[in-house]
Amino acid sequence: MKSLKSAWIVALLMVAAMLVAPSVPLKAAELTDEQVEEGQRFVVNNAIFILFHEAGHMLVSEFNLPVLGREEDAVDALSAVLLLGAEDEELNTTMQDAADGWFLLDEANEDGPQEDDFMGTHGLDRQRAYAIVCMMTGANAEFFKVFADSLDFPQERREECVFEYEKARDSWMSLLAANMKEGAKTKFTVTYEPAGNEDLQGFADLLKGAGALETIATVFGEGYNLKDGIKITGKTCGTENAFWYAGDREITYCYEMAAFHAGLISNWFENQTADPDAANDAGGEEATDEQTDATAVKLKKKE
Ligand SMILES: [Zn+2]
Repeated sequence: MKSLKSAWIVALLMVAAMLVAPSVPLKAAELTDEQVEEGQRFVVNNAIFILFHEAGHMLVSEFNLPVLGREEDAVDALSAVLLLGAEDEELNTTMQDAADGWFLLDEANEDGPQEDDFMGTHGLDRQRAYAIVCMMTGANAEFFKVFADSLDFPQERREECVFEYEKARDSWMSLLAANMKEGAKTKFTVTYEPAGNEDLQGFADLLKGAGALETIATVFGEGYNLKDGIKITGKTCGTENAFWYAGDREITYCYEMAAFHAGLISNWFENQTADPDAANDAGGEEATDEQTDATAVKLKKKE
């Protein structure tokens, strides 16, 4: 467990340090430099969360792990456990961005969930968001207090989440322990395919600059009994998604997904500019730094 933790922390801290990414158009015309930078971070952080989610599917499939309950929920929990377990402020921000990503996705879906969504493999977007919030506050109630307060996340729920987080962490760790070996190394093949169009190429460059795909290769490349040759590929897919293909042993992250998250955050920024009051909950009071940090629309503003 120790070696697992140290390996992923080192890799994740490296990524966190690289998040100042090359300049990418993020509908930049109407956004400030600060918003563009924050937006890029949001895009990369959501990609990282999703890549960890896909890596969770990879572990389930490669190790033939039992999954009680819905696999999609289980691998969201793994993603949260790994990122939160690093106990790093930047990676806590990754989690906040991931929760915000699902909230924004939910809000963008004006018609609300449809029958298909209820029948699908995943939880509803807003449920996924709150499940992440539960892991966050369960792992570190103090650090995420402002964020959880901004969502009116109930106190009793926060107390339950402490146990839910511990259960998720301990369950994953005990399952993984049997598939880990001190000193084991696995070679992954990381490829950023050319996007084939200028807009998406910007996102390919952003992810590459931040080393998003490499995070998975680094974190899972040490200490796990995985066979060499798993591919981690960024590409244009024609859909906004990410996949684990067991037969090909390949994680695919579609650049369209990054563009989609960029659209969500750009719209959110634009709405804030159009209606600055929407950005805070303070009801006429001067917003304090803390209040600005956690807004009613569930997105923290970073200084
Ligand atoms: Zn999935």
